[in-house]
Amino acid sequence: MDLFSLPDFDGHEQVVFGHDRATGLRAIIAIHSTALGPAAGGCRMWAYPSSDEALTDALRLSRGMSYKNAMAELDLGGGKAVIIGDARVHKTPALFQAFGRLVDALGGRYITAEDVGTSTADMEQVAGVTRFVSGLKRASGEVGGDPGPKTALGVFLGIQAAVRFQLGRGLEGLTVAVQGLGGVGHPLCRLLAAEGVRLKVADARAELAERIREELGAAIVPVDTLLEQDADVIAPCALGAVLSAQSIPRLRARIIAGAANNQLARESDGELLMKAGILYAPDYVINAGGIINVAHEYRGGSSEATVHAAIKKIPERLTAIFERARHESLPTSTVADQMARERLQAHRRA
Ligand code: NAD
Repeated sequence: MDLFSLPDFDGHEQVVFGHDRATGLRAIIAIHSTALGPAAGGCRMWAYPSSDEALTDALRLSRGMSYKNAMAELDLGGGKAVIIGDARVHKTPALFQAFGRLVDALGGRYITAEDVGTSTADMEQVAGVTRFVSGLKRASGEVGGDPGPKTALGVFLGIQAAVRFQLGRGLEGLTVAVQGLGGVGHPLCRLLAAEGVRLKVADARAELAERIREELGAAIVPVDTLLEQDADVIAPCALGAVLSAQSIPRLRARIIAGAANNQLARESDGELLMKAGILYAPDYVINAGGIINVAHEYRGGSSEATVHAAIKKIPERLTAIFERARHESLPTSTVADQMARERLQAHRRA
């Protein structure tokens, strides 16, 4: 394999492979860009079938973080780490300390945080050996901690903006179908219900859907039918790659706006959505509330009010993307990528 000519390599500044014999750590840290500041992005732990797949994931996610951080107007670049291993089986404090030493050796070029398969508790282990980590436990009143509710706030405001743009109205009386009711989906449902939205919900864990039904009166729908529900908005808050050539023709909603990362199975699916007259809120723009929270925690000196003010810019950014996409007859996903690249290039020139 020629790493430098992989399609996902895309000009990465640095890729580091870390191995620790004592703990069995096998990790990859990909730094796509430090043009805007130190590369920030979480650490994923996953039982990748091969190191090639782990590398591809790290590269894709890392470039995604460059775009996400640029669009969120953060003074952070893009990077991502992956640890190869099953989070339910291979996690030990020593493993995360070894990972922390790898992060530390980069001298602050990369800042880590939790992601799929890793937790605040794991990041506490990392923090024992390096200061280049965020998403740590916080006392009440301090900025930081679980980013889920902040991501949910950004998604909620983004749904409002998408509805205003596509349907020319407010949320009250609309139906939103939410796929996935975890750290983001649950607080999102609360915000929507408070605006008089009717909820349709599904989660692979039936008890989570039941909890939302009891708390907010949501209608539970079968997991495999959520995307094709009769609803005004679909909010994917579970998995990536849910929007594909197979699923898009079955969609009935006119708006897709949710938290899940990498919702498009392929880049070309953005065009399929546009041709179907469906407004898609690009995932890394609408779901930036969590990274905004993490960034403010890392930099320190912020208040909850500052974090909220930064999250409230998400709907403005989405509306700018929607308008440019309409004007240029381009998919919103293409326009978001263009705008992110423009920001990175403008900074490199400055
Ligand atoms: P989570 O793991 O807490 O919740 C995800 C939920 O989806 C789980 O309850 C799971 O049972 C459910 N699920 C899995 N497969 C499903 C399916 N096929 N149908 C319905 N439900 C299914 O994760 P989260 O923190 O809520 O994040 C949700 C999504 O948003 C993820 O894609 C994540 O990468 C993305 N995201 C999260 C944040 C954040 O701050 N937590 C920030 C940005 C993006």
